[in-house]
Amino acid sequence: MSAETLVQLLYLVSTALFILSLRWMSDPETARKGVFSGVAAMLLAVAGTLAGVAATGGTHYWWILGAFVLGSAIGYPLALVPLTAVPQRTALSHAFGGLAAGLVGTAKYFLYYGQRNAEALAPFIVVALVAEILLGFLTFTGSLLAAGKLQEVAWIPQRPVTYPFQNLVNLLLFAVALGLGVALVLNPLAAWGPLAFGLIVLLSLAFGVLLIIPIGGADMPTVISILNSYAGLSAVAMGFVLNNKLLITAGALDGSSGLILSIIMCKAMNRSFTNVLFGAFGQAQQKAEGGEEKVYKADTTESAAQIMEQASLVVIVPGYGMAVAQAQHKVRELYDLLKKRGITVKFAIHPVAGRMPGHMNVLLAEAEIPYDDLVEMDEINGDMPQADVALIIGANDVVNPAARTDKTSPIYGMPIIDADKARTVYAIKRSKNPGFAGIDNELYFLDKTFMLFGDAKAVVGDLARKLAGEGGH
Ligand code: NAP
Repeated sequence: MSAETLVQLLYLVSTALFILSLRWMSDPETARKGVFSGVAAMLLAVAGTLAGVAATGGTHYWWILGAFVLGSAIGYPLALVPLTAVPQRTALSHAFGGLAAGLVGTAKYFLYYGQRNAEALAPFIVVALVAEILLGFLTFTGSLLAAGKLQEVAWIPQRPVTYPFQNLVNLLLFAVALGLGVALVLNPLAAWGPLAFGLIVLLSLAFGVLLIIPIGGADMPTVISILNSYAGLSAVAMGFVLNNKLLITAGALDGSSGLILSIIMCKAMNRSFTNVLFGAFGQAQQKAEGGEEKVYKADTTESAAQIMEQASLVVIVPGYGMAVAQAQHKVRELYDLLKKRGITVKFAIHPVAGRMPGHMNVLLAEAEIPYDDLVEMDEINGDMPQADVALIIGANDVVNPAARTDKTSPIYGMPIIDADKARTVYAIKRSKNPGFAGIDNELYFLDKTFMLFGDAKAVVGDLARKLAGEGGH
């Protein structure tokens, strides 16, 4: 087998593994296999690249191996972050991906320019180069900023930063970058070529920041998945520049999966793409004036346990707070104790509960709660009026009835879990603070609702102890 055939074979198997990886990752039962096949695909891609260097008689192995070691040294600790920090970790990965594409594009342009290689800088290649650096560098700064917002870095404003004619200014900057790109395509070897190229790089870096500052922290998870698709498209462009089919397919997979994920998130929040990108969602809301101070009814875990004992259907609605408190194992204990008493227990899974799609499924799977008892929002809502108890564990926006009734609410139209239709509602949270969207929740003031204030892990543990203590009958 010739070296070139070997390279193509490695790339082919790698491509197939990338596709299988995505397929397998879409189901919790096969997700682990999906992760391993993704890792294997990446290893084969690196092996293929090394074989390609050997095939062309190149000697720059060390650069590739050095980058491999450096990348692994950064990637390994990143893989160890807690689940709640995965969105910002993912944003950092996209930032690195965008930076890599941008740097490769820059290196290629300056290499060919130095060689005065008009053939290598044919119009099609320069179009791909411009697309690569534009998308690559804007993904780099945009993703860094998104990661910072998600991590709640003190000096990065969480609220959308807006100013007059913002979209117009952005559009103009983009038009200038595009104009420079067209000039470069028509005249890649001009004396002003490197200057134009440098300007496009600077504008793309600035554009990444300007695109993200008007978007509030609440929309960051959607935004990072949009940036994911930009990074993927940038890799596709890089694939055309380097004439590498693996990069083209892997980039296309990355780009389209990012796009599909953002569409799923937008749908689940009943928002449009343009509303997420330009809607400045999450600006400080004006408090309604003159309203009386509403009161919460706090209750004890003891009486909550008593009510739950009498129930025949308990629906648990987990949210971001369960993830923060890492309460899933205590939730499993509670689930076991209730089931032991013959009570039906179901988990109501909202598609955007937590901070990433599938967040609740992953946590509950970790605690080995049977998948069959995890019920999607549309399906469980039909059962909510029959539920004796809705136990809300650190969820807020996803059970806020304002989404159904209050046209002025920023979450109006978002589908919610109908917890308010259950006979009795218990809600676990630490304080009276609002959730992600920064708005009050009428559900907590209903007659049928009782608050169990405290950390989710501690309160659920307490509930389980109360149920176990009174067990045996
Ligand atoms: P949420 O609205 O952010 O509410 C979480 C609640 O958990 C808070 O009210 C908080 O109240 C409580 N909490 C935090 N830490 C806790 C702890 N240790 N123990 C007990 N309670 C704790 O969460 P959600 O209902 O899951 O809704 C998700 C939100 O994220 C939605 O607005 C959704 O649109 C947005 N979002 C999600 C995704 C996604 O893919 N999942 C993507 C984009 C946006 P206290 O501070 O009082 O404890």
